[in-house]
Amino acid sequence: MTLTDADAATTLDLDRHVFHSWSAQGSLAPFVIAGASGSEVWDEDGKRYLDFSSQLVNTNIGHTHPKVVAAIQEQAALLPTVAPAHANRTRGLAAERILEVAGDPFSAVFFTNGGADANENAIRLARLTTGRDKVLSAYRSYHGNTGAAIVATGDWRRMPNEYARGHVHFFGPYPYRSEFWSTSPEQEAERALHALERIVQAEGPGTIAALLVETVPGTAGVLVPPPGWLAGLRAIADRYGIVLILDEVMAGFGRTGDWFAFQNPQLNPDGVVPDLVTFAKGVNSGYVPAGGVLIPPAIAAEFDTRVFPGGLTYSGHPLAMASIVASIDAMREEGIIDNAARIGADVLGPALHALAERHRVIGEVRGLGVFWALELVADRATREPLPAADMAGIKRHLMAEGLLPFVQDNRIHVVPPCIVTDEEVRRGVAILDAVLP
Ligand code: PLP
Repeated sequence: MTLTDADAATTLDLDRHVFHSWSAQGSLAPFVIAGASGSEVWDEDGKRYLDFSSQLVNTNIGHTHPKVVAAIQEQAALLPTVAPAHANRTRGLAAERILEVAGDPFSAVFFTNGGADANENAIRLARLTTGRDKVLSAYRSYHGNTGAAIVATGDWRRMPNEYARGHVHFFGPYPYRSEFWSTSPEQEAERALHALERIVQAEGPGTIAALLVETVPGTAGVLVPPPGWLAGLRAIADRYGIVLILDEVMAGFGRTGDWFAFQNPQLNPDGVVPDLVTFAKGVNSGYVPAGGVLIPPAIAAEFDTRVFPGGLTYSGHPLAMASIVASIDAMREEGIIDNAARIGADVLGPALHALAERHRVIGEVRGLGVFWALELVADRATREPLPAADMAGIKRHLMAEGLLPFVQDNRIHVVPPCIVTDEEVRRGVAILDAVLP
């Protein structure tokens, strides 16, 4: 590579040409990442950081996994792109691998470029099969940044984008900050379900196509569903003929210690099976943008003779498909899903609970696998969230000590890759221990 004048500029100089997501552009000073391997990233001075963010909670297999990198390189030399209408072996293998780990009843995969368009197409499938248009989703949720997906989103990102009709929101369970005055997780689930069913009835069950729910709401705070919630959702969906879509974009592919969160007996003791599942992120750790929808025969059959009115130029892109095949194979061969489960149960979970005993600023510890949140509070009794300025100070301090955290509102999401080792967890938790007030 030859250096041009532009290359001689610093990375932050060049970054001024980049229009960034979710930001006022004027005051940005992004962290520069020069390279990465496994659970670590490094900056341009060679300083290393433990990546306990997994970037946007997507590098489940860790950074630069050699088998996945090699598969992308091989595919790039053979066939780097192909139109979605053609058949391609790598795409078929990727679909087969995903269906193997998903299990019954799913029989087909619609591939997308990421999580938002996975949700768009799941919503489209639900609307077309039911002939209804409304979509119910939770206030504390994130489903993506495209037309319908952003309006399905429950948090602040919805309001400036609210132009599609047919979206109705409800409060899901959150025992730590209950909307329902509940005093136990079971009661929280029961009351949230009652409120949801009343919304269904008030909106008119015959108008509701889909219930779209994150199995474990992620960005909203790793809100582990209380007992009875998923079974209750399934029952409401069945009672009113509504399609139940579980969004596993963040929770899927190892994050909870299972391939999918809905397969995890701790999260879903009743063995609830959704009608559609959306995925992205961990399916190939984001090495190439990819996502998709898992479709069961009952819904796929609707489109045997009727045209499915949806598609994307890069649906099933060969580089993404090659990385999916290699990633799932490596996860199986190297026991990466089991590692995430073991780390959560034996190392990370106990260490975070122990931290909460030493630091009164931790109001609650929630999670499983490599999917945890520390909710920080100014006062344990009132549960008042720790102010933004304090959170920013903690983030700066963690980075100075070599830990790249995922900080969201008053929470630190502790979300290392599924390959994280015991030693890396101990090192990361020791930094948290040293920095937290
Ligand atoms: N759904 C969930 C649960 C997510 O966490 C995200 C992204 O964070 C999305 C959907 C959107 O995915 P993408 O950014 O790939 O469009």
